[in-house]
Amino acid sequence: MSISESFLDTIFTVTDPDARLRKPGALFEFETWRAGDALPAGAAVGGFKTIPKNSKVKVEQIKIEPSGSQSKIVFALVAPAAGGAALGWTSTRNFSGSFRNVTLGKIAPAPGAGQFGPNAAWKGGAYQGQITLVQIVDRTLEIEYLSEAIVEPYQKMVAAAAADGIAILLNSGFRTYANQKYLYEGYVAGRPGFNKAAKPGSSNHQHGIALDIDTAGGLGSPTYDWLAKHATRFGFIRTVPSEAWHWEHRPAAAATARAAGKHQL
Ligand SMILES: [Zn+2]
Repeated sequence: MSISESFLDTIFTVTDPDARLRKPGALFEFETWRAGDALPAGAAVGGFKTIPKNSKVKVEQIKIEPSGSQSKIVFALVAPAAGGAALGWTSTRNFSGSFRNVTLGKIAPAPGAGQFGPNAAWKGGAYQGQITLVQIVDRTLEIEYLSEAIVEPYQKMVAAAAADGIAILLNSGFRTYANQKYLYEGYVAGRPGFNKAAKPGSSNHQHGIALDIDTAGGLGSPTYDWLAKHATRFGFIRTVPSEAWHWEHRPAAAATARAAGKHQL
């Protein structure tokens, strides 16, 4: 199993009834049936080529393309899970739930990258150095980034929760300096949609150990209760008294808390 490219080892289910195939050289355009094609039942010349709902597929290759200013779409070249020729390119949003927590590859620091670059880690207002990041699909099917060091314990926790019928979904992972600055400035200016945010350089989301997990309902929700019981086994501990969703990978602190029957710092 590839920790940083889990899409290569996963079988996905097409859940969208209108999962259209894309043109290989122009992924924002759709493939259509042409005269002379062997048309499946119900298809017509000029109609969109689609992958039938509930198809099981494997992903052979991905391409990540920007879609709007903050958003990205992950396209996949898919083949039948049972084997055979590739079906073509489609949006992984057509796999919806089954694509969450999938890892999409590493981003290593660029040579000579600086303290405000995309891989720069910060702690307590001080620059810490460069870290390798792994791209991962969040709750809303957008891409988040985790420090490579915490991907394996995170995925083990996700798998253990799934075995108990609990979906661990990510809302936020690593933030770049620029990202934290944007959130902080929005918070200070009181812009709508901006929550309380730490000063750039001093958020725990900037050194790669912090996760915001969807704990809808907070204390007493099935996800929260599961985390309270099990997260420390994977080295994760809750650290912010007012934020039920904020967990950090601090193995030593988590082990101490666990021994004391706690799940919080
Ligand atoms: Zn947080």
